[in-house]
Amino acid sequence: MATDYAPKDLPSHLRLYIGGEWVDATGGATFDVLEPVSNETYITAASATPEDVNKAVAAAKKAFDEGPWPRMLPRERSRILHKIADILESRDARLAEIESYDSGLPITQALGQARRAAENFRFFADLIVSQHDNAFKVPGRQMNYVNRKPIGVAGLITPWNVPFMQESWKLGPAMATGNTVVLKPASYTPLSAALWPEIFEEAGVPAGVFNLIFGSGGVAGDALVKHPDVPLISFTGDSSTGATLSTNAAPFLKSLSLELGGKSPAIVFADADLEAALDATVFGVFSLNGERCTAGSRVLVQREIYDDFIEKFAERAKNIVVGLPTDPKSEVSALVHPNHFDKVMSYVEIGKGEGRLLAGGGRPEGFPTGNFVAPTVFVDVKSDARIFQEEIFGPVVAITPFDTDEEALELANDTRYGLAAYVWTTNLKRAHNFAQAIESGMVWLNSNNVRDLRTPFGGVKASGLGREGGYRSIDFYTTQQSVQITLEESHSPRFGVGGATPGKH
Ligand code: NAP
Repeated sequence: MATDYAPKDLPSHLRLYIGGEWVDATGGATFDVLEPVSNETYITAASATPEDVNKAVAAAKKAFDEGPWPRMLPRERSRILHKIADILESRDARLAEIESYDSGLPITQALGQARRAAENFRFFADLIVSQHDNAFKVPGRQMNYVNRKPIGVAGLITPWNVPFMQESWKLGPAMATGNTVVLKPASYTPLSAALWPEIFEEAGVPAGVFNLIFGSGGVAGDALVKHPDVPLISFTGDSSTGATLSTNAAPFLKSLSLELGGKSPAIVFADADLEAALDATVFGVFSLNGERCTAGSRVLVQREIYDDFIEKFAERAKNIVVGLPTDPKSEVSALVHPNHFDKVMSYVEIGKGEGRLLAGGGRPEGFPTGNFVAPTVFVDVKSDARIFQEEIFGPVVAITPFDTDEEALELANDTRYGLAAYVWTTNLKRAHNFAQAIESGMVWLNSNNVRDLRTPFGGVKASGLGREGGYRSIDFYTTQQSVQITLEESHSPRFGVGGATPGKH
């Protein structure tokens, strides 16, 4: 049942979208979707069976094998993608309210993510028309060139944090390059994904190019990963799920892109611009409710400034406005689901035995129900603490002091993860050397997480495999066939004419 702060005109049931048709799951199974403030079921969604996955893959394969999409000129596809971006921009407010209601993201931040979704489509629309490939000539003898081709049906599996934006991050390049897709969004947050079909139809995407299945990861997601007609899987989610997927995809020798968890360090040296570092580190861990893969959830602070920094940090955390997702003043709001709330709260309790609590530590005042967690700050956290090592994925930070550059580096690298890192120092040499030595896929120097879509995105260690972003996304979603042509008479060693003769190769 929808609450009084629900967006208008919500559907009561979400269906699958296969081959351009809205359909229920075979057998009619559904699952409940909760809204994170009341934790009441407000909608049901069709729960795809392996048979439904087969149908979605068959529709996508037909559109790939027989339809116009992979055969269009890049400019034609680009026009459609720009249209998608235009539609997304024109509906950003609606998208944001839907996303915010379903996921608990504060409305202002959901709006930013809706605009980023549009930008993801615009970016890849531009990239495919400027795409060029290698050609190599051996003068007078041979010409070699690269044929870049879409691969087929791409399986896209996405998480519940900033769901619509994450979906666009995969849909943009997968579709731009001429593949057809089956998207399986996270079960906690299916609502915004149900907006895609109408947007794509309006923009002129042919039926069958985009297919949407809802349902449990272990059933629908698993069937997609193991489907022999799905040669590539792009997955974003938890590291342990990534490992399972990797095992399941291995017998099929599929291309895999895995964007996984993180426990990213933000390292603040005494010579840093401390006000800027404070702004960025507070934002880095508490924005998007702390449900952010690149959150700077471990803050390492040089001893000289430690006491002063943690005091200011805790003060900021206490002043953060926690409120309803719909309230434009809210900076932190409800976590996505009661199960996730329980997980984050259990870490808050663990943290009380592992560090010194300076802010938060439970529910915020005024929110006795719903998935609200007060922005929580633990200081003096040792590197073997669970709250230092494990991804909490909520508004909880572990702060640790260090003395030397060597110690800071050791602490920064002392986890199984390696997604992002943030370094705050005015020493240019130190900044670059630190970036080089840190074990992470991405480093921001004197900056919070500002993305340039041309740069590679991804992690090392348990944070992922492969890179997307810019032309790396194009590389993942296409195959590169090399073609060789001789420019002279063909000279081959002449076998079968009585003894070996020298020949050109
Ligand atoms: P998750 O539990 O791993 O789920 C991600 C997706 O995988 C969901 O759609 C899920 O379906 C599906 N799934 C689960 N088991 C599966 C299986 N055996 N086969 C196929 N699909 C399966 O992750 P989450 O809790 O939604 O997301 C949070 C995690 O994502 C965090 O660890 C976060 O750091 C990570 N993340 C990483 C990045 C990055 O770019 N590196 C970005 C955002 C988030 P159900 O929803 O039905 O379970």
